[in-house]
Amino acid sequence: MIKTVGIVGAGQMGNGIAHAFALTGYQVLLSDINADALDSALKVIENNLARQVAKDAITSEQASAALELISTSTNLNDFAEVDLAIEAATENEDVKKTIFRELSTILKPGAIMATNTSSISVTRLASVTDRPEKFIGVHFMNPVPIMKLVELIRGIATSDATYNVIKDIVEKLDKISATSEDFPGFIVNRILMPMINEAIYVLYEGVGTVKDIDLGMELGTNHPMGPLKLADFIGLDTCLAIMQVLYDGLADSKYRPCPLLVKYVEAGWLGRKTGRGFYDYSSDEPQPTR
Ligand code: NAD
Repeated sequence: MIKTVGIVGAGQMGNGIAHAFALTGYQVLLSDINADALDSALKVIENNLARQVAKDAITSEQASAALELISTSTNLNDFAEVDLAIEAATENEDVKKTIFRELSTILKPGAIMATNTSSISVTRLASVTDRPEKFIGVHFMNPVPIMKLVELIRGIATSDATYNVIKDIVEKLDKISATSEDFPGFIVNRILMPMINEAIYVLYEGVGTVKDIDLGMELGTNHPMGPLKLADFIGLDTCLAIMQVLYDGLADSKYRPCPLLVKYVEAGWLGRKTGRGFYDYSSDEPQPTR
């Protein structure tokens, strides 16, 4: 029975996952190596809960009960009592492996480990742990409190019991799961990221401006958010990391990350989270940067 959930990484995904679990009544322990990230995560969760109250989606009692269920820590040793640990740290295989090696020495024997990775092999991450059968990919979508889908990815060793426990939890969170085999990018990012990368090539080659590319896809194909806006929303570092996983893992040149995406990441222009990407977010209305 899962009662306490530990989350490693309190960025945009970690705070959303904490929000969703706490609102469903789970005890949540949110951790990050960066104490400031924990402070901002709590503020974001509080604001997002208040927004749901304002929209009558939840009551103010539910919002305060959820906040009370969340505690924070910068020390993974505090994970000894969690029943489920979900890793939502930076999309970098070495960072994730280090976290899972450490969690292997801390978690109680029955606890399940999950990764929110967007693209990295679940089987490879599981292989560094002491419990590959209790390891699974649980890929939430951004923003977690709003998006219905959770992609479930079984590593080669993931047991049926682990898969079933997690599938039930996804339903409890009032979300719907789609199951993907463990191949680079899984289902959603295998399809989405090459489209975003292509949109960046279209910009790079001067075929269209930021505004026209996004308008084209919003009004021309009914996407609620154009690909460049979406890339900024996801984080350009995450987009690049996913393209690199597709390129390396599938060894096909069609996944080559666009050089302009690489340049933006090198400049530290990572999208919304740093205030600048394909748009500048310093004023109320985001302004295209090209
Ligand atoms: P983010 O940059 O907003 O947050 C990452 C957080 O991880 C930061 O707060 C950082 O301090 C923390 N971190 C880094 N190393 C750590 C460590 N060793 N221990 C603990 N914390 C550490 O990134 P994000 O967008 O929240 O993405 C997190 C994960 O979720 C990635 O694997 C990403 O691929 C995946 N994901 C992202 C999206 C998206 O749209 N952004 C969607 C689904 C899944």
